[in-house]
Amino acid sequence: MKHQRLIEQFNLRSRLRFNVDEGQIWLDENRMLLIHARAMGALRRELIDTVGDHEARGILVRMGFVAGMQDGELAQKLYGEGDPHDVFGIGPELHAFEGVVKATIIDSKIDWARGTFFGEVTLDNSWEAEAHVHHFGVGDDPVCWTIVGFASGYCSQFFKRFIVFREMECVGKGDSRCLLVGKPAEAWGEADGYLDYFRRVDGVPRFVQQENELTQLRGSQREPVRPGRLVGNSTGFRAAFDLVSKAATSPINVLLLGETGVGKEMFARWLHDHSDRAEQPFVAINCAAIPHDLIESELFGVQKGAYTGAQASRPGRFERADGGTLFLDEVGDLSPATQVKLLRVLQTGEIERLGDDQTRKVNVRLVAATNVNLQQAIADGRFRADLYYRLATYPVVIPPLRERRCDVPLLAAALLEKYEGSYNKKLQGISEKAMCTLKAYPWPGNVRELENLIERGVLLAPNGGLIEIDHLFAGGAPASAAGAEVDRAGVVGNASEASRSRLYESILQDGFDLEKHEARLLELAVQRAGGNLTHAARLLGITRRQLAYRLRQGTTPAT
Ligand SMILES: [Zn+2]
Repeated sequence: MKHQRLIEQFNLRSRLRFNVDEGQIWLDENRMLLIHARAMGALRRELIDTVGDHEARGILVRMGFVAGMQDGELAQKLYGEGDPHDVFGIGPELHAFEGVVKATIIDSKIDWARGTFFGEVTLDNSWEAEAHVHHFGVGDDPVCWTIVGFASGYCSQFFKRFIVFREMECVGKGDSRCLLVGKPAEAWGEADGYLDYFRRVDGVPRFVQQENELTQLRGSQREPVRPGRLVGNSTGFRAAFDLVSKAATSPINVLLLGETGVGKEMFARWLHDHSDRAEQPFVAINCAAIPHDLIESELFGVQKGAYTGAQASRPGRFERADGGTLFLDEVGDLSPATQVKLLRVLQTGEIERLGDDQTRKVNVRLVAATNVNLQQAIADGRFRADLYYRLATYPVVIPPLRERRCDVPLLAAALLEKYEGSYNKKLQGISEKAMCTLKAYPWPGNVRELENLIERGVLLAPNGGLIEIDHLFAGGAPASAAGAEVDRAGVVGNASEASRSRLYESILQDGFDLEKHEARLLELAVQRAGGNLTHAARLLGITRRQLAYRLRQGTTPAT
């Protein structure tokens, strides 16, 4: 049996050493811990209770990713320059050896030179599914989070590309088996926010949730859309636009500053399309979307033989953008080591592929963007000042949408036209009340969020009809949109603190029963979520356990 053969071939057992005198266990060069599954289960449970399902899932996925990368490194070392299918095959054996799960590869298509990857794996005896079901019972979502992270980290490490696994079936949600599918990250797409589990983000923006629902709505009816144009007439927008137009034809490096979702990539594209490089490639990369260990091979490329397993050379984004424009989004997320290498490229105009001692000239116009305060990052020692001055020769600040609300109707009209085209629909427009709500909305997700809402509106409004509020905010309006309802005085409010406290004050005037209102609110949320407690809890901004607890409290008679 092949399984047996690989284990014996690499003599894994001999690489595991218990150094009892020193209190250490080693697997080859990596220190290991023999941990009680019950203790891990308890940690996992407490994590979920403390930070909620969503955050806990991210933390555990990323923990698994680190373990996977270590084992990926070990597998490469064991196997040398073998067939990538065989290196993939060692992963499940290591995972089984460590007592985590029995994984079986049922399908794999790997092409190193083209960078394509597909893998399908089934799991038996997942410790994580057992622990989850023990603590929480069978739920609605897959639960083998560290294992998904492990598979992704393992394959990303040996394949030197960001490979992401996703659990399609899971014992933890009542399926008869667990099934993982792995593909390059970009093949999954950004739309439903799944990739965010692999990134460290502080407070996932709410519009990720909207995008989740959008993906379901879209189905397969969507035509590809061309990149949009820049739209706006507000002072803030015009100031940014003027700066960008003046820089377009010069070779100067531009730094775009602004919150997430303000449209930095659209500005970068516009710059490229209006430069004398317009006929050359425009290459974009989001530095925050790629794990630190892989970013250098993405940017600078890999030379054949750079490390065991690198069987073919691959150009990086710099080389692919040669003659054109490279857009580096979230440049503030680069690790210190990568910052040094980037600085050298900017100084010399030359790149060096990983594992190559030969330099290659590249002629690239760099447009960088960030939503973090780089000056603060410099003060904190997280970003190099010399790199900052190279990048920020020409900074352009793109204002958040809430500071350019008068552009909302223009933007909405342009987006409406775009999505009417891509969904082959003709609408009368946006109702006055809906437009009023849009203008008052606080736009935490900026233009990107507006785009999501309009796309949803186009999908849900009847052909030939108007887009109404319910079409825009249908199915679980974000909490901040709740403030955009018409209040007792008939005024469309925004979610500002002032209007909220006015609402609370008017409630208190009428004689208020907190318990009754809480019970009614919980009931409403459960109703709206169709009885699904996880979704209902999300609507209320609490964890499923907290909701279950409150519901139980509500049914016990008051003391
Ligand atoms: Zn599972």
